[in-house]
Amino acid sequence: MVRPSGNRIVIYFAGVTLSVRNAAAAAALGAALCAALSGCGGGGAASGAAGQARLGTPAAPPAASSPASPPAAAPPASAAVGHGPGKAPTLAPGPNGLTPVFERARQRTEKTVALTFDADMTADQGPRAAAGERFDNPGLISTLKALGVPSTVFMTGRWAEEYPDQAKAIGTDPVFEVANHSYSHHAFTSPCYGLPALDGAAARADVDRAFAAFRKAGAVNTVPYFRFPGGCHDERALRALAGSGVTAVQWDVVSGDAFAKDPDAVAAQVLAGVKPGSVVVMHCTRSAAPVTEEAVRKIVPELRKRGYRFVKVSELVGT
Ligand SMILES: [Zn+2]
Repeated sequence: MVRPSGNRIVIYFAGVTLSVRNAAAAAALGAALCAALSGCGGGGAASGAAGQARLGTPAAPPAASSPASPPAAAPPASAAVGHGPGKAPTLAPGPNGLTPVFERARQRTEKTVALTFDADMTADQGPRAAAGERFDNPGLISTLKALGVPSTVFMTGRWAEEYPDQAKAIGTDPVFEVANHSYSHHAFTSPCYGLPALDGAAARADVDRAFAAFRKAGAVNTVPYFRFPGGCHDERALRALAGSGVTAVQWDVVSGDAFAKDPDAVAAQVLAGVKPGSVVVMHCTRSAAPVTEEAVRKIVPELRKRGYRFVKVSELVGT
C-alpha cells in the first residue's frame, strides 16, 4: 500500500510504515515489498530495497482498511474458554455477534506489556524453505526463554508444518502460548499488501486448519486468539470468523522489525511506544526480521528498568 504524504511517499507494509523521498524509490520498494509479502517472508531483494528506505513513525495500528475497524476500547472479557490445557479468557462478541477485537488491555494502570511474535510463512513458501530460506528464529525463542519473558507466538499453520519440532517446543513451554495467525497467511480482506484473498468460507477453514496443524505438531499451549495476516480485516472478515470462538488480536505498538537492519531503531521505536497494557507486534522469522532477537535484548532490560512486567496476551485480555 503506497500513498503520497506531503513530499514523501509513505508505504504501509505488514504494520510498518516506511517513507522515502521520491516516487521512483517508493515504486521500487513497494514492488519489492509486495513481492516479498506474497509470503510476508522476504527475500534478499526485498531486504535490500527496504534498506534504502527510512523507517517512519507509524501513527496507528494498521487494521483499518475498512469502516469496520475495531473500537478503541475492548469489550469486556467473557468467561474463560478452554483451548489448550489451560484456560484463556476471550472477549464477548461485538455488535451482531461479530468476532471481538482486542488491541490493548482495558486496565491501564499496571505496567504490563505483551511482546507478540508472528511466525509467518505463506502456503506457497515451501520451495523457498527447501532452498534454505529460514522462516524460523530459534535464537529469538532461546533468548526469550533465557530472559524469562512470557510471550505469545502468533503462528501460521504452514510454519508449524515446516518446523514441527519447534512448534512443539514452543507449544509445550510454559513461557509461551501459541495463537493463530491463519494457516496460509493469505488475506482475510482485500486489498492487503498484495496477499491472495480468501473468501468467507475459506477464511474460517483456514483458521481451523492452523489449529489442526498445531495439534498435529504437538503444540498444546494454544489460545483462542487470532491475528489477521497483515492485520487486515473488515466487518465481513469479522463475520466470517464469528462462531469460531476466537478473539482477534491486533496491537497498539508497531516494532518496525520487518526488514529492519538496525536493532537500535527497532528498540527505540518499541520503547517510545509502550504504554501500560500495550501489545507489541514483532516477528519470529529470520528471513524477514533479522534483527528482532538483538532488539529484544535491548528492549527487555530497559522496560524492566522502567517498571514493566512482561505478560502473555491472555493475561491482558483477562484484565
Ligand atoms: Zn504475518
